[in-house]
Amino acid sequence: MSEQRTFGRRRGIPSAPAQEAPKAPTESDSGTGGWGSMDKLASQASGDLYLKISEDPTVIKVIDADPFDNYVAHWVEEIKEGSKSVRCWGNDDCPLCGIGDKPKKFSACFNVVSCEDPDNPELRVWEAGVKIARQLKDIALDDRRGPLNRDDLYFTISKSQKAKAVEYHLERIRARDLEEETGVRPLSADEIAEFTADRRTEPVKELLDSGEMSQLVKMLLDD
Ligand SMILES: [Zn+2]
Repeated sequence: MSEQRTFGRRRGIPSAPAQEAPKAPTESDSGTGGWGSMDKLASQASGDLYLKISEDPTVIKVIDADPFDNYVAHWVEEIKEGSKSVRCWGNDDCPLCGIGDKPKKFSACFNVVSCEDPDNPELRVWEAGVKIARQLKDIALDDRRGPLNRDDLYFTISKSQKAKAVEYHLERIRARDLEEETGVRPLSADEIAEFTADRRTEPVKELLDSGEMSQLVKMLLDD
């Protein structure tokens, strides 16, 4: 997923050139037909990429044993359209760090199955903050509770608003207690295998290249 940003009246960051001309689908392209494909494609639309966390606990199954990506991001309020969150290069060369801007947010990314709709479990990317990521690490590395993706391990995740801060609440649930405690049936081994095969391994938040970064830095310094 690439992100496009524009800066008010200033020029937008040019998007990457198209790799190849799109081909019109033909009737023989049956791979995108049917209800299964509809669900799959619908869930790939960007709004459905991330796990939604609300005040009601959502049952999730973690598919990864460890985060498939970790990053810190700068927050650039001046970006008018598109994500204000810009992935830090994570090294001494980061142009935003270079002008003294400190990255503000840490994310650990996991593939999880959201059982928000118990009849229609969906693969999602969960970007956990540092507090929850540390809780997950403690569980993952504990012989009695881990690994995170062990077959009988489920979680509920919810959030609450405390003063100005959002607090997240993570609870473990064993598969055998899941239905009774939450009304959600545990996933079958086949379902878990299918979600595992579909899981994401590429970073969700892409790096801006040096051209995009220098345009962003120039815009900030010009202000
Ligand atoms: Zn940086």
